Amino acid sequence: DARSQSGDDGVHVNVILRCRPANAQETAERSANVIQCNEALREVFGPDSLQEKVYNQAIVPIVQEVLDGFNCTIFAYGQTGTGKTFTMEGGPRNSVDGKRLSAEAGVIPRAIKQIFDAIESDDVTDSSVKVSFLELYNEELTDLLSVADEKDKRLRLLEDRSGVVVQGLEEMVVKTSAEIYQVLDRGTSKRRTAETLLNKRSSRSHSVFTVTIHMKETTPEGEDVIKIGKLNLVDLAGSENISRSGAKDSRAREAGNINQSLLTLGRVITALVEHSGHIPYRQARGGGAHGTHQPTPWSSTTAVHCNRFVDSKLTRLLRDSLGGRTKTCIIATIGPSLSFLEETISTLDYAHRAK
Ligand code: ADP
Ligand code: MG
Repeated sequence: DARSQSGDDGVHVNVILRCRPANAQETAERSANVIQCNEALREVFGPDSLQEKVYNQAIVPIVQEVLDGFNCTIFAYGQTGTGKTFTMEGGPRNSVDGKRLSAEAGVIPRAIKQIFDAIESDDVTDSSVKVSFLELYNEELTDLLSVADEKDKRLRLLEDRSGVVVQGLEEMVVKTSAEIYQVLDRGTSKRRTAETLLNKRSSRSHSVFTVTIHMKETTPEGEDVIKIGKLNLVDLAGSENISRSGAKDSRAREAGNINQSLLTLGRVITALVEHSGHIPYRQARGGGAHGTHQPTPWSSTTAVHCNRFVDSKLTRLLRDSLGGRTKTCIIATIGPSLSFLEETISTLDYAHRAK
């Protein structure tokens, strides 16, 4: 069909790498810079890359796919402190004033702006935009938009043949981009509050911001066309957790769960890259993920035939947006300093294998 000729370039998983600048402490300590970025060698965003550049080069085409009626997912993957949240949400001076974005605004507000700019165009006769924002912590789902107390609000993931539904998740209909920014602020501040209660929770939880768009367009022939697109923007748990499989303290279970979801995600993406028919949304509990042996996220066991299945809620949640006619972008974030080197290499490895 015309669509696959015009829009689909056949690339389903895109990986980009972003290195943040040295922070004040690294500069003060004259910490050795171990990263050299040659942006000319494509798809590496160095420390001077602005939010706008990253967005325009890597994200605009994906959001366009969503506006064409497809489901797409953007992940931020990397060690804690390397700029995942900065990339997805924005910097501290990320105030959005009406329709104007600040220079530090991240992928989420920019995507929202692109979406509203498009649906406010003349071709779209009718549209609705719904958002949800949830956190996945220790395999438990929390609604970041709900005003109800966390304890009263247990979200459940229900699956049937037609897809995945998060029971109890608030989906807010938003009419303007300004309204969405408010909703987003509420969610991020709720995440931060939870963080002070539970020491650096955001480094051990995934957050998923989802925008669903229904658009009705009228063709020049007067025909109505309905398009539904969904965009998931995922700020993953810090990847340093992936190597903590041997944790013996009370965090062991939590570390296991983070491992599980990042490992399963890795396998899902490997399968997508390989265009494998079998996508392991549910990962088999093989020898390793919880044992002493540390598997790489990419050990290519895509076809899992094991009688004991462990769910990864993250991949189940995103099931309708991974595979098929969808686009996935992984923004792998790294820090420039020597002290991060080991984690940087592991992130580069993850990014490389996803390519
Ligand atoms: P993460 O979410 O991966 O743990 P953050 O996004 O919180 O990391 O980033 C850590 C710190 O570095 C924050 O203070 C953030 O504002 C800053 N930072 C991250 N990336 C950049 C960047 N590209 N430019 C400027 N500051 C950045
Ligand atoms: Mg963060």
